[in-house]
Amino acid sequence: ESGWDSSFLADDIEYDDALRPQRLSEVVGQRAVVERLEVFLDATRKRNEPLGHLLLDGPPGLGKTTLASVLPRELGTELQITSGPSLSAPKDLLPFLTNASHGSFLFIDEIHRMPATVEEFIYPAMEDFRVDITLGEGLNARTVNMKLQKFTVIGATTRSGMLTAPLRDRFVRREHLDFYEDQELVEIVRRNARKLRTPITDDAAFEIARRSRGTPRKANNLLRWARDFATSKADGNITNEVVKRAFEMLEIDQLGLERQDRRYLEALVKTFSGGPAGVQALGHTLNIPSDTLEDEVEPFLLRCGFIQRSPRGRVVTMAAMEHLNLNPPAGGGL
Ligand code: ADP
Repeated sequence: ESGWDSSFLADDIEYDDALRPQRLSEVVGQRAVVERLEVFLDATRKRNEPLGHLLLDGPPGLGKTTLASVLPRELGTELQITSGPSLSAPKDLLPFLTNASHGSFLFIDEIHRMPATVEEFIYPAMEDFRVDITLGEGLNARTVNMKLQKFTVIGATTRSGMLTAPLRDRFVRREHLDFYEDQELVEIVRRNARKLRTPITDDAAFEIARRSRGTPRKANNLLRWARDFATSKADGNITNEVVKRAFEMLEIDQLGLERQDRRYLEALVKTFSGGPAGVQALGHTLNIPSDTLEDEVEPFLLRCGFIQRSPRGRVVTMAAMEHLNLNPPAGGGL
């Protein structure tokens, strides 16, 4: 995932890992997905075979890495971790394939960003557990076929639409992770506050949850901020009052919209008369990569009903204008 984040709360990998569920039973929400995975795991255990390849898709911070690390733990097997952008050639992938023991897992984050050469190299590995390696160059080049242990690929992507059909077809199971309900986020916040030994009131947990954009990673980041704020400006307890003041300072509004979201909507209204505007053009105006807009900003705005996608681009909605107290654009796309 892109490291870009204009908000004050950057992700903290150590903090993230400390709060990550270790077992499937600790995974909150995503009930339908978790139940199907339990069946999948159970059948795998009973047949004593490696798990079929699994593709997880959904916006950042919803639990793809969490599920990918929980599954091998449930089966008591090893996990190797890599990502699409870090595999620039087949030789980068090869060590992971040859190291994979029987029944082990290989997690490939952002699998849609794997170059085509690597993708073609992984097909036979996923399908027949073998790789074709070319040795030597030019006239002396020859291909050697190498057998691999049976292992499981877990691919994660924020854009399943960007996956090629042949790659998508090599995944036996495909699961889509959706945004979380407020109640599920409340549970995550309360559990994690307990892990951090920080007292929190029920209404404060709810205030954090509803500003978390349906995303556990956001909930954890906001909890961290509220905890710092409570320690610095109050007696260390996270109360409703503390949370409200903490979020005011961060300029996060009641729905969880941040500065970057407001900038996006304002650009759409003021620069593009409400749209339709292409995501590339919006990216240029905001000086933010259009990938980042598509992955991290737009999914939540779409979910709030603040923008719509049309064939000609993004269009702002009346609900967004009302939320931001903006005047409708003259002759705009509303
Ligand atoms: P992704 O890989 O989809 O970007 P992660 O799996 O890294 O998301 O999740 C980010 C953080 O959110 C994790 O460290 C974990 O603490 C929390 N989290 C995600 N999903 C859940 C869940 N279902 N239950 C509890 N915590 C979760």
